[in-house]
Amino acid sequence: MNRSDFNPLGQFVAYACKRFHLHLLAGGLGDARPQPQIPARAVGLSLVLGEVVQVPGFLQLQQETALPQWQRWMGYANPISHDTFGYVTERMDPAKWRAAGVWINRRLKKGKAFEGCKVHGLLALSLDANEQFCSDHRCCEDCQSREITCKNEAGQEVKKTQYYHKQVYAQLSGPQWSVILDFEPMRQGQEECAAALRLLRRMRGAYGPRFFDLVVVDSWYANGPFLKTVVEELGWPVIAVLKQERYEVYQETEALSRGQKPVQRVERDGRTVEIWDLRSLRFSDAYPGSVRVVKVRERWRQRQRVGGQWEDHDKEQNWIWVVAGELDGYDGAAIRDVGHLRWKIENNAFCELTQHGHLTHCAHHHPVAAMVLLWVKLIAFTLFHAFALLHGKLFRLGRATMSEVRKQIDRSLLCGRPVSFFSG
Ligand SMILES: [Zn+2]
Repeated sequence: MNRSDFNPLGQFVAYACKRFHLHLLAGGLGDARPQPQIPARAVGLSLVLGEVVQVPGFLQLQQETALPQWQRWMGYANPISHDTFGYVTERMDPAKWRAAGVWINRRLKKGKAFEGCKVHGLLALSLDANEQFCSDHRCCEDCQSREITCKNEAGQEVKKTQYYHKQVYAQLSGPQWSVILDFEPMRQGQEECAAALRLLRRMRGAYGPRFFDLVVVDSWYANGPFLKTVVEELGWPVIAVLKQERYEVYQETEALSRGQKPVQRVERDGRTVEIWDLRSLRFSDAYPGSVRVVKVRERWRQRQRVGGQWEDHDKEQNWIWVVAGELDGYDGAAIRDVGHLRWKIENNAFCELTQHGHLTHCAHHHPVAAMVLLWVKLIAFTLFHAFALLHGKLFRLGRATMSEVRKQIDRSLLCGRPVSFFSG
């Protein structure tokens, strides 16, 4: 490739517009301003590109919009002020952004982008919750509150009220890459499971029942009402971590597997994995059907430095998975592999977004703008990863890391040739 022709921003914009009609999507997002002087498309495109190159706030975004390359890209020949970004995002409709996100993800699925995410032929959706805007002051009417105990300057324990937002995210996780399909905010006085069920019900309508094959969750969701709704009403099998020793099923699993040989033994990433597979167990009064329980013991040797010396140590990890719904055709090792996807840090959208604080950071604390900006973030994340992984030649050849591609896009804003996609 001729170096002077290399314009990652131009390539990204061309890709997002050709493959996902980003310019049309942004134009359709609109807002509730009666007589907009600055087109919503210019604001929407700036917000998305701002996320791709990780501009930290509206003030910095205002500076970017003064660059000629940026103005060509958004199709508007003036800078946009930080006030405008705040004013417009408060008046945009989060449901329209969600619809754009759903459209992009459906298109990715149609283009077979998630085929590599399947494990044993199954596409798994995982649920995770994340907190945002934690502070000592109420900042908006959607802030939730809770009592916490902390120490004052004199070291005495005092109670205080803390305010925060919290969302449940639905992620399609796979070994290659992953995307967040939708999210739902928790409401005051409600449990995480209630938000998760609202989310899954909406997703069944938006994505259809066969977009993914099953739901993987942590132990928090391993309760009768949640399993009953997802399996019986929504029709998806569930694999959940089982930790609560209060459940009879946990005690029963321990009793039934004690002294018994594992039914399966496999090797995974240098670990010896032993599996006990127990069928037709009773879960709880709230869940009428029987469940299957897969108990897993993983053992491996690990090098550790102890007192200046390297030593090999035996390590062991135990997992118990409860399986509700129809997954009978999949053996214990398959259940273990699907369940474990959620905990793999590499290529996990949720982990990447939370690790770098992207889901916690928000440029504008306002009930509507916060939802809009989260969608902007997720759409930008998905488009950028799709570009870098599926389309980016450099990345595909292993010659550039993800952050290098991002840096190249950033640099091309300042010194690259002007992007002229509106003429093309
Ligand atoms: Zn708030």
